[in-house]
Amino acid sequence: MTVNDNETSVRRMRPCPICSKLSTREDYPFCSDRCAKVDLNRWFSEGYTIPVVETDDIDESNIPED
Ligand SMILES: [Zn+2]
Repeated sequence: MTVNDNETSVRRMRPCPICSKLSTREDYPFCSDRCAKVDLNRWFSEGYTIPVVETDDIDESNIPED
């Protein structure tokens, strides 16, 4: 009974993408819940900031008339 269980059960730990500390099993792939939220907020803020364009500067001649 010398099954090498560790080989399969121990995952290769990656560094946290936010702060580069080693990730934990609980918060994988992050090192902590805090970093997981940071990443989530990053996605949120990017999603909100990309497509919103104020129309004040648009030349009226470019707007198709109805
Ligand atoms: Zn981290």
